[in-house]
Amino acid sequence: MKLEILPRFRLAFLPTPVAELKRLHGALSDNPNAPRLLIKRDDLTGLAFGGNKTRKLEFLIGDAISQGCDSVVTGGAAQSNHCRQTAAAAASAGMECHLVLGGTEPGEFTGNLLLDRILGAKISWNGDLRKGENIPVIAKQLRASGKQPYVIPYGGSNAIGAVGYVLAMKELSAQLSQMKLKATHVVVASSSCGTQAGLVLGARLFYPEVRVVGIRIDKDEIGITFEEQLIQIANETAQHIGVDENFTRSDFIVRDQYLGGGYGVVGELERNAIQKLGELEGIILDPVYTSRAFGGMLDLIEQDYFGKSDTVLFWHTGGGPAVFAESI
Ligand SMILES: *Cc1c(COP(=O)(O)O)cnc(C)c1O
Repeated sequence: MKLEILPRFRLAFLPTPVAELKRLHGALSDNPNAPRLLIKRDDLTGLAFGGNKTRKLEFLIGDAISQGCDSVVTGGAAQSNHCRQTAAAAASAGMECHLVLGGTEPGEFTGNLLLDRILGAKISWNGDLRKGENIPVIAKQLRASGKQPYVIPYGGSNAIGAVGYVLAMKELSAQLSQMKLKATHVVVASSSCGTQAGLVLGARLFYPEVRVVGIRIDKDEIGITFEEQLIQIANETAQHIGVDENFTRSDFIVRDQYLGGGYGVVGELERNAIQKLGELEGIILDPVYTSRAFGGMLDLIEQDYFGKSDTVLFWHTGGGPAVFAESI
C-alpha cells in the first residue's frame, strides 16, 4: 500500500474530535429504536474555519508541490467551502489561487466569499456554471502567461484527493477503538463523491464492520450518474494507493430523497436540523450540506432505518461560514 509515501502537505489538525450527542439522543427518547449517536468533527480540521476539503487538499497540494507548480485553479459555487479551503491551502503553501465561481460578482462579499478575498484568491465569475466548468479556460490562460497551474477538480474529488478520506476512516477506526466504541454506521453528506468514495474504500481496508450512508445533496449530475461517479473515484483511488480492491454499485448506500428544492435551497428539513443541533448540542451545521444530511439522518432514525443497538456516527464535514451568507 502506497498510502504512507504519497506526497502530502500538512494542513489539518488531526485527529479531529469524536463526541457523543447525548442531549440530542435524550430528545429522541420517545423513539424506542433511537440509536446511540456520535459526531466526528471535521468542521474542526482547522484550516480557515475547517471542513472536509482540508483532508483532500493535503494530498492535492502535496501533488502540486511535487510537480513544481506555482499556482492552483479550482472552481465551484459562489459560497463554495471547497474554494475557500483551497484558497487557504494555497496561501499556506505560497501558491497563487484562482477560483472559477458560479454567479455574478455581488455588491457585498459575505461568508465563504469574503474569506476567499481575505485569503488572496483571484476570482472569475461564470454565471450558470457553478461546478468549475471553466477551470480549463483559466488554466490555459495561466499557462499562456508563463505560470505552471495545478488543476484541482470540482470538490477536490479525484483519486488524489479521496486518499484524505481513506486515511480519515483509518483515523476513526483507531480513535473509536481507543474510546472503546464501535460505530455500525457513518452518515455523511455526499456531493462531488470524493468524501464518500474515500470513506468506503477506507472502511473496506480499515473498518469493514461499518456501513457508510451517503446523503445526496445535489440533484444535478454532469455526464455520468452519481453512483457511477462514486464507483469510478473509489476504483481509481484503490489503484492510486496500490490496493487490489474493486467496487460496484452494491458497495454504496445512497439516500437521495432529501434533495428538496435543489442545491443550496434551504427548506424545513435543513432549518430544523440547524436549529436542533444548535439548541441541543451547541454545534453549528451549514445550510447547504450538513443540515440536509443531518435532517436526513433524523428522518432515517424516525423511520427506524437504524436499530436501538446501533451506533450511528454523523461525519460533520464543515461549511460553517455559509451560515453568514444565508437567511436561515
Ligand atoms: C464539499 C462538501 C461536502 C461534500 O463532499 P464531497 O466530497 O463533495 O461529496 C459535504 N459537506 C460540506 C460542508 C462540503 O463543503
